[in-house]
Amino acid sequence: MATASLPQSSPRSSGVSEVHIVWLTAGLGCDGDTVSVTAAEQPSIEDILLGAIPGIPKVHLHNPVLAMEVGDAFMKHFYEAEKGSYDPFVLVVEGSIPNERIKSEGYWAAQGTDYNTGQPITTCEWIDRLALKAWGVIACGTCAAYGGIHAMAGNPTGCMGLVDYLGKNFRSAGGLPIVNVPGCPVQPDNMMETVLYLLYQAAGLSPIIPLDDQLRPTWLFGKTVHEGCDRAGYYEQGDFAHEYGSPKCLVKIGCWGPVVNCNVTKRGWMRGIGGCPNVGGICIACTMPGFPDKFMPFMDQPPGATLSSAVAVSYGRAMRALRSITNNTANKEPKWRHRGPKLTTGYQPAAY
Ligand code: SF4
Ligand code: SF4
Repeated sequence: MATASLPQSSPRSSGVSEVHIVWLTAGLGCDGDTVSVTAAEQPSIEDILLGAIPGIPKVHLHNPVLAMEVGDAFMKHFYEAEKGSYDPFVLVVEGSIPNERIKSEGYWAAQGTDYNTGQPITTCEWIDRLALKAWGVIACGTCAAYGGIHAMAGNPTGCMGLVDYLGKNFRSAGGLPIVNVPGCPVQPDNMMETVLYLLYQAAGLSPIIPLDDQLRPTWLFGKTVHEGCDRAGYYEQGDFAHEYGSPKCLVKIGCWGPVVNCNVTKRGWMRGIGGCPNVGGICIACTMPGFPDKFMPFMDQPPGATLSSAVAVSYGRAMRALRSITNNTANKEPKWRHRGPKLTTGYQPAAY
C-alpha cells in the first residue's frame, strides 16, 4: 500500500508539555464517534486526560458532547484556539462537511453565533478558521474522513470528507496531512490510539505517524477484515452460511470482508469482544472511502464473491474431505498405548 509523502522530521521535534484537543462535532453526523470513543480502553479518554500514561503532554479536551460546560463557557475554547492562545492544539473533526456554496441562503451545519453578525458560525467556517492553525488535524469516523452516509448519491447537501474540503495537499501547522480514522462509528481504541500516537509525536517521543495513501494509520488499516476473521477457516473450506445465526462464513449473505481495510476482527470492538463478522454481522465496509454506495445493496452477495466462493467451494470440498480423514486419524491414540504384556512401542534397547 502506498504511503503518504511526509516531511522527514517533525517541525516540533523538541516536544511540548501541554496540548489542547478541540473537537468539532458539528459536521453532518450523529455524534456516534464521540459516543463510541467513550468505550476506548487502549487507551481510554480518562487515561489520557488524567495523565496516566507516562511521557505524554498534559491534555485539555474540548468536545461539546463530553464537556461539562455549555454555551459561551464552552465556545470560548474555540475562540481561544482561533486567537492562537492554545498552542499547540489538535483539531478533531467529526461528521461530513456540507457544501455551503451550493445555495443562496441558510446553512447546513453550524456551531455558535457570530457576535458581530448575530448569524450562526458554519462548520465550514470553523474549519477555515482552525485547520491551518492546528498542530494536527484528525478526521474522526468515516463521515469526516470521506463523507460517509450523508455523502451518498442523491444527497441534497453536497457534503464531503475533510480531505475533499481542505485538499489532499493540506498540511497542518505541525506539517502533517489530515489523519483519517474511518469507521461508522470509529472503533474506539483505533481513535484513541491515534490520538496517543500524535501526543507522543507532539512530545517529540515518536516518529512521524505512518499513513497510507488514504491517510489512514498504516498499522490500523493495513489488513483486511477477512485476514483477521474468526470465520476465515470456513471460507477457506468453502463452507458458507445461507442464513443469519450460522457460525460459518457470511460472504454469501453479503459480507465484504475480503476487500475491506479494517482491523475489528482482530481488535474486537470493546475489551477485545466483537468485530462484526466474528459475532455474526456481515461487513458492510463502513471504513472505506467508497462507503456506502459501492457496497449496496447491503446483504446481497458481493459481485466478486460469486467467483471466489465458487472456487473456494470446489477446492474447499476436497480439502474438507482430506482433512476429515486426517482428523479421524489425529483423533485416535497410537496403538502401542495398551495394558498388554508386550512392549510394542518400537523401543530398541542399546546393547551394552
Ligand atoms: S465472514 Fe466475511 S470476513 Fe469472515 S471469512 Fe467470511 S467473508 Fe471473510
Ligand atoms: S468489519 Fe466492516 S462493517 Fe464492521 S467496522 Fe469493519 S469495515 Fe465496518
